Amino acid sequence: MSAKVWLVGAGPGDPELLTLKAVRALREADVVLIDDLVNDAVLEHCPAARVISVGKRGGCRSTPQAFIHRLMLRYARHGKCVVRLKGGDPCIFGRGGEEAQWLREHGVEVELVNGITAGLAGATQCAIPLTLRGVARGVTLVTAHTQDDSQVNWQALAQSGTTLVVYMGVAKLSEIREQLLAGGMTADMPVAMIENASLPHQRECRSDLTAMEKDAQAFELKSPAILVIGRVAASSAAQPSREENVWEPGLPAMQATR
Ligand code: SAH
Repeated sequence: MSAKVWLVGAGPGDPELLTLKAVRALREADVVLIDDLVNDAVLEHCPAARVISVGKRGGCRSTPQAFIHRLMLRYARHGKCVVRLKGGDPCIFGRGGEEAQWLREHGVEVELVNGITAGLAGATQCAIPLTLRGVARGVTLVTAHTQDDSQVNWQALAQSGTTLVVYMGVAKLSEIREQLLAGGMTADMPVAMIENASLPHQRECRSDLTAMEKDAQAFELKSPAILVIGRVAASSAAQPSREENVWEPGLPAMQATR
């Protein structure tokens, strides 16, 4: 039997946004390696599996990537059904591509299972259509956080005319604003900032490019959050169940209602 690892997306948090294929993989799993952003509720599908947390956040010491690689390899070579469970989609800013490549280079078969990425879920939960005929002809998923020296070309993105969905942007609002303004984006471009998308304590803050940093501070925006920058972010009406967690500039910051 050849060694195999499933690289599975757990979706943005709402357990109902898990795919049927992810559920099947979890049911078959002997070992599940999970990231921090995975909602533990999805583990109900693998009650008998050994669950190992290999997250990289939350104030704890991060698990080195090389250690995660070796752990997957060891279990897979012992014939275990290994599920590597990641928040959102495994290949959207989730190192899924790196892990798949490394495993394949070490003779392990890899099966990727999509998850709903946070940017898509966040927009949908806030009734924001990321593309809209006549308004937004495309959408760009981009991270504000790079570990190497590479720079995001925000100025080019400002001119792309696509809706920008920014991951890991909470600490970079000022830089993003300056770069997008320098690229010619209009100062009143609507922005939606969505924290804990799809979870019961989801919160959203509507703003615009000029005010987004100030508004995020007043709102006490925290990670994990995504930013949606573009005309479509002016679309209104949060879904009714989460209406109480919508905030508009001028109101005091609200606490999440868990
Ligand atoms: N693979 C994940 C992204 C991992 S990068 C995916 O496809 O969603 C981590 C970043 O994702 C966070 O900093 C945040 O920007 C975003 N994120 C993840 N889960 C989120 C959530 N529930 N709500 C808002 N943003 C989220």
